[in-house]
Amino acid sequence: MDVPLLDLQAQYRTIAEELDAAVMDVVRSQRFVLGEHVERLEAELAERLGVVHAIGCASGTDALLLPLRALDLAPGDHVIVPAFTFFATAGAVWNAGLRPVFADVDPRTFNVTAETIAAAMTPRTRAVVVVHLFGQMAPMAPIVELAEARGLHLIEDAAQSIGARQRIRGEWRESGSLGLVGSLSFFPTKNLGAFGDAGMITTSDDALADRLRKLRVHGGRQMYHHEMVGTNSRLDAIQAAVLRAKLPHLDTWATARRDNATRYDEAFAGLDGVSPPLVAPENDHVYNQYTVRVEDRDATRGRLEEAGIGSGIYYPVPLHLQQCFSELGYARGDFPVSERLAGEVLSLPVYPELTGAQQDRVISAVTRGR
Ligand SMILES: *Cc1c(COP(=O)(O)O)cnc(C)c1O
Repeated sequence: MDVPLLDLQAQYRTIAEELDAAVMDVVRSQRFVLGEHVERLEAELAERLGVVHAIGCASGTDALLLPLRALDLAPGDHVIVPAFTFFATAGAVWNAGLRPVFADVDPRTFNVTAETIAAAMTPRTRAVVVVHLFGQMAPMAPIVELAEARGLHLIEDAAQSIGARQRIRGEWRESGSLGLVGSLSFFPTKNLGAFGDAGMITTSDDALADRLRKLRVHGGRQMYHHEMVGTNSRLDAIQAAVLRAKLPHLDTWATARRDNATRYDEAFAGLDGVSPPLVAPENDHVYNQYTVRVEDRDATRGRLEEAGIGSGIYYPVPLHLQQCFSELGYARGDFPVSERLAGEVLSLPVYPELTGAQQDRVISAVTRGR
């Protein structure tokens, strides 16, 4: 592929020495489990987000699952999640013994809104997982207000949105800092990617943070004394060292992604059959994906492939229509926006190291014949 959807080798080349040194630091210490790099990364991220606690864990999926298990929820309680998101958002709810209740999304931003969440409310709804999809935050002011009015736990799935911000009442707020819990992923394709799986939970609730720290090490503060049944979901020390080396570059990378997005926006403005993503005026988008809606999506994707250009379909099947959730009783037609998006979305290369020449090739392949 001449222009891949994401080029991790290109990123690695720009800071290889720093990354190699970070890995070797842990190798030389032979301290692989928790320890200094994990603690420092937790402190650095808590500070950056403006939250009291950041708790490293094994993956973004566990960063959703552990809080759902730590909260005072009863088996079968309803948790609202978007119908249009990565599977883990709803899978974590299911695996916590809770019932995913789907909400539709806004067709222009791909995110849930206070209105679509309100429409999904049931008498058993106890929590909402809001996803900031593709790197743009959902409209949090009205969502926080709704959650407070209804007494719902609010979890932000910030797996794709580290560094994204939203201006609320004149103040910039970080993605993952507005709910009771924020869930981050450092899967290699995210904007801050580890050399494998890793995740982080953020919260400013002391008691919840305490439960989460126990849950990630089999439910005890002290070895071999278990207050609850937890699991092994620690953030690996090598991953923490890699992430600490990458963190100072995160904002530069986000700016490069944003510049690439702006070039696409300009090239696609007014183009027949292609809708660039809408950025809400209060948002700083970090473009984990640059996702357009295309009427002849599959043909366009074919043209890209012929031209040696990678692209992605996130996501081809909305979650209410997944086979594994058939017993929840949803049907086609329940969430028309999510269903339409599944047939129209196309994500294009937007990674920071994408060159101007590469981007020109993407643009010409998308615009050709329109
Ligand atoms: C990647 C992702 C997750 C899961 O993160 P992992 O680290 O891969 O487990 C959860 N939610 C969303 C929206 C994601 O994009």
